Amino acid sequence: MTKNLDFRRKWDKDEYEKLAEKRLTEEREKKDGKPAQPVKRELLRHRDYKVDLESKLGKTIVITKTTPQSEMGGYYCNVCDCVVKDSINFLDHINGKKHQRNLGMSMRVERSTLDQVKKRFEVNKKKMEEKQKDYDFEERMKELREEEEKAKAYKKEKQREKKRRAEEDLTFEEDDEMAAVMGFSGFGSTKKSH
Ligand SMILES: [Zn+2]
Repeated sequence: MTKNLDFRRKWDKDEYEKLAEKRLTEEREKKDGKPAQPVKRELLRHRDYKVDLESKLGKTIVITKTTPQSEMGGYYCNVCDCVVKDSINFLDHINGKKHQRNLGMSMRVERSTLDQVKKRFEVNKKKMEEKQKDYDFEERMKELREEEEKAKAYKKEKQREKKRRAEEDLTFEEDDEMAAVMGFSGFGSTKKSH
């Protein structure tokens, strides 16, 4: 007789929990067409470009109501379609979790093996050597050019000197002749007479 004295509805918790779970999985499956799986993202990668923080420095632009967000000034991220106000925050943004996620990367970093580290050292060493070689070559070319120029200048100077000497000799001769005519001797004749 005393069946259900309070009028409150009794909820079958287990039953509803099961229902809720079923609904959630159904929703997930509906979303991407297949049973939900944890998203697999790439490991964090090196940035292979230089971040442009300065190309708009000191420039003035006109902004109207119809200006697209990407041209509103500030730092626009085309991956996340958002504008960041200053360079520090922009760097924070592109290094941040949200941005990397939009790029399809997780924040997890690949752990390098000893071999990878060794290889990287080798590559960097080679790069340095290459740079040194380039430098040496350019330096050598510069030296050669300078040597050539010096040689040219020297030759020119020699020729000029020769010419000058010839002219001087000529004037000396003239002087001597003049002296003879005038009745007194020049330098040459005084030295000869002893
Ligand atoms: Zn971004």
